[in-house]
Amino acid sequence: MPTKLDMAKFAKFCKDMGFIFQSSEIYGGINGFWDYGPLGVELKRNIKEAWWQDMVRNPPPGPDGQEIRMVGLDCSIIMNPNVWVASGHVGGFSDPMVDCLKCKKRFRADKVHFACAVVDNTPHAISVEADNATDAEPLLKEKIAKLDKKKHPVGRALKSAPQLEYHSATALPASWPRPCPAEDCDGTLTEPRAFNLMFESHAGPIASDENKVYLRPETAQGIFANYKNVLDSSRLKLPFGIAQVGKAFRNEINPRNFTFRSREFEQMEIEFFCHPNESRKWYEYWRDLRRQWYSRLGLKSENLVPREQGQEELAHYSVGTTDIEYMFPFSDEPQELEGVAHRGDFDLSAHSSRSGKDLKYFDEEGWNALLQVRLEAFKDDKAKREEEKKKLEKEEKAQFQFVPHVIEPSAGADRFTLAVLCEAYTEDTAPDAKGNPETRIVMKFHPRLAPIKAAIFPLVNKDGMDEEAKKLYRELKPFFNVVYDQSGAIGRRYRRQDEAGTPFCITVDGDTMKDGTVTIRDRDTLKQERIPKSEVRKVLEKALSPV
Ligand code: ATP
Repeated sequence: MPTKLDMAKFAKFCKDMGFIFQSSEIYGGINGFWDYGPLGVELKRNIKEAWWQDMVRNPPPGPDGQEIRMVGLDCSIIMNPNVWVASGHVGGFSDPMVDCLKCKKRFRADKVHFACAVVDNTPHAISVEADNATDAEPLLKEKIAKLDKKKHPVGRALKSAPQLEYHSATALPASWPRPCPAEDCDGTLTEPRAFNLMFESHAGPIASDENKVYLRPETAQGIFANYKNVLDSSRLKLPFGIAQVGKAFRNEINPRNFTFRSREFEQMEIEFFCHPNESRKWYEYWRDLRRQWYSRLGLKSENLVPREQGQEELAHYSVGTTDIEYMFPFSDEPQELEGVAHRGDFDLSAHSSRSGKDLKYFDEEGWNALLQVRLEAFKDDKAKREEEKKKLEKEEKAQFQFVPHVIEPSAGADRFTLAVLCEAYTEDTAPDAKGNPETRIVMKFHPRLAPIKAAIFPLVNKDGMDEEAKKLYRELKPFFNVVYDQSGAIGRRYRRQDEAGTPFCITVDGDTMKDGTVTIRDRDTLKQERIPKSEVRKVLEKALSPV
């Protein structure tokens, strides 16, 4: 994986195993919302904990070999609406969308693709919904092949103009026909219109405009709004980062591809504040580190594609933005997993001007160092020293006061969970109880991410083996998420754990009762080793170590 995967079949597997369920399924579900089942919740927790451990508590040293200063934050989801005015979300957080005038369905304009045949300057079109032009082309061809060639205008047009033009709804000339892409609908789409993606609510009992609030569409703004609180309370010095993991909500026009585009999701975001002169080096540091992190946790390098935005795509304040993209199996094109953006001083300046609060950073150390050097010559003349100090304050102090630049690595916890599930899913063969090859599904999770770290089995439930296995299970339980299973044939129990992605199965057998050793089976190699049961904890600790 991930080669192409039937996503409907995959979603069913995830449901059957207890990874991911459709939200409120007993009522027919709700589009764009998902629940994590018993295995899924462990997987996602492990992902968020690995991120927190590796990025917040123990990030690797910076480009200069020095320790990185990083602290965490947990902000409220609903904030003063001014936050979203300053950030630009109230004015501009919108996707162009199109509505079907007949079936009333709504689509993202960049996800509707047309094939047009032009005869005598008259265009005829059909459309499909797809993530990008590459994915759209075969779907359009398939749709054309199914057309009634005599009756459908595109079918007729193709006879005299076999050449097709391809456009998305954002690029289609305004006067051209815009048929709806929905199956069995012959309606027409509107022209693209902006649609604000923020969920609105009201704080308080009265649903009036004065009480209007928004569910945050990203966690980042809570960090900017608290920048000064964190700085003052933690006495941090630049460069430093503030990290947050939490829910975000976007009223996506078209949630799709399982959990990839949801309306409620979790983000893992860092705002890293630095001196403007150092921002490029920190941008490169985070861009490279974030990509390596995904590889270290099991995404194959060939499936990870960093896409650096071209100069023309960049915001005016930015020296660079890289989307770390992943070859999800539902598309031929890589899709965004995380964005690493150089945001300049844009956010702090915007909040400073809207709130009226000074969010400049004062480099006290640098200023004091300058004073020391420049006042050295006047150390025996107090009056001259004061005079020189005043002069320096007037002429030079300003350069030590500046708005920091920000590098923002912004990752999606649910998107990474989906990538991990896709990458882990493997079908291979393993010997059954009689040694004959049997097809198995195995989730090859990195041990740090695996929902269950080890399963403990008695070979049979007699001769004290079950008691001994339970004892081992109880010894391990305070330290790892382990399970005890004594039901069914041992081969069946192994299969169950392979499907859950458990890296180790530990079996207590007759020899355990004699010499205190157990077998430990590796999920991927299927190798079984005998080790003293007192070593099991060490083996697990080693496999789960973040370094
Ligand atoms: P996209 O182009 O896919 O809509 P974006 O560029 O709007 O994403 P950002 O605003 O940069 O996304 O958000 C940072 C991260 O949050 C994304 O890289 C992704 O992992 C996650 N994310 C954003 N929107 C969604 C969503 N609707 N569902 C799940 N995860 C999301």
